[in-house]
Amino acid sequence: MNREEAAKKIEYLKDELNQYNYEYHVLDNPTVPDHIYDEKLHELIGLEEQFPDLLTEDSPSQRVGGEPLDKFVKVDHEVPMLSLGNAFGEDDLRDFDRRIREQVNNYRYVCELKIDGLAISLTYENGKFVRGATRGDGKTGEDITNNLKTIKSIPLKIKEEETIEVRGEAYMPKRSFLALNEAREQEGLEVFANPRNAAAGSLRQLDPKIAAKRNLSMFVYSVGKWEAGSIGSHSERLEYLNKLGFKTNPETRTFEDIEDVIKYTEEWTLKRSELDYEIDGIVIKVDSIDQQEELGFTAKSPRWAIAYKFPAEEAVTKLHDIELSVGRTGAITPTAILEPVQVAGTTISRASLHNEDLIIEKDIRIGDTVVIKKQVTSFQKSCVSLKTNVQGMRKFSECLRIARFAEVKSKKSTTKLPIDV
Ligand code: NAD
Repeated sequence: MNREEAAKKIEYLKDELNQYNYEYHVLDNPTVPDHIYDEKLHELIGLEEQFPDLLTEDSPSQRVGGEPLDKFVKVDHEVPMLSLGNAFGEDDLRDFDRRIREQVNNYRYVCELKIDGLAISLTYENGKFVRGATRGDGKTGEDITNNLKTIKSIPLKIKEEETIEVRGEAYMPKRSFLALNEAREQEGLEVFANPRNAAAGSLRQLDPKIAAKRNLSMFVYSVGKWEAGSIGSHSERLEYLNKLGFKTNPETRTFEDIEDVIKYTEEWTLKRSELDYEIDGIVIKVDSIDQQEELGFTAKSPRWAIAYKFPAEEAVTKLHDIELSVGRTGAITPTAILEPVQVAGTTISRASLHNEDLIIEKDIRIGDTVVIKKQVTSFQKSCVSLKTNVQGMRKFSECLRIARFAEVKSKKSTTKLPIDV
């Protein structure tokens, strides 16, 4: 690609990513799956590295999060709340390790689950919770103290009279998310795209009664401003936070060798669905605070940490056919026959459509483009995510022709029915 073509592509990607950022961070309502956003951001960063003079300060590659909403009082973060650099595979992790090794010796890593929620800052003065804020654009967040007070895992008073700002991730457990969306569907309300957006949508409300009803929780994972702080390693700080009464994640591990870090990422890629909360990767941090300071920061993220992102759990594919199988009782179960697609490392070619009502209600048709989501096994949720998530794709209600099925009572075979178009 020559410079002129790159400049055009960069402008196009910047516009697209700015729009996605606005929908995700400000409206809490993304229109594309995260891996699509990540791929485009990766492409932008690649082009900006190839043509450094085309990099501008307002590029989405240089920005953290989204603007705080005007409806909240603004809170300035004395220590900026940054984003994290991303690693998408083993090679990226080994590159990260090489960069660390070039600057410091005898280091070790703390590996933490990357909770898919909303970054929160909690300030305690003399042991009392006085202020809670969102990350916002990293410099200025939104004061959501009253909403955070409704989260039972956030202590209102800690066990020492410390003046300390701690940071962590507020999240909605999977079970609460599914129950909330089911209730919203029944009430005819728009469903949330994922637990992260449900948590953010619950906390960025002016009425704390809404957050109180949503059964949110929070893991604390670092310290922000802490003038009296003298603990010299991240892992010991986590232990101290735990002693103060904060909920820290029990799966955190410390390793010296990057190959052990890679094994930990592989283990959690397989085990993540066992958790009652969503994680979208593993965060790897250099343990020593002195070494962190030596390594420093880029404009957007610390050089001493990286976020390993799991392979996408969502994929876009085509619905080739709808197969109907008739059970012993005569009940008909439709199955979607899909263009095979990789989702979280598995090839998916079939998905249950549950029943005819769902097909009619969602107006599902052969030839449709659908989003497949692995962690939510029900195709209904996938349809929901297609309806609300995928911009540029025709929406169910607008584009899909009504499929009508004749009644089939055959007890023996799988029957394919003609679709009336
Ligand atoms: P990030 O998700 O890559 O990483 C930083 C965040 O990780 C922190 O702010 C914190 O909230 C979180 N985190 C969770 N556990 C942590 C831990 N143990 N230690 C430290 N941090 C931890 O970066 P980001 O800037 O928050 O946002 C980018 C993410 O948002 C990407 O996953 C991207 O796909 C998604 N996004 C999606 C869209 C969309 O339209 N779908 C748009 C914008 C962003």
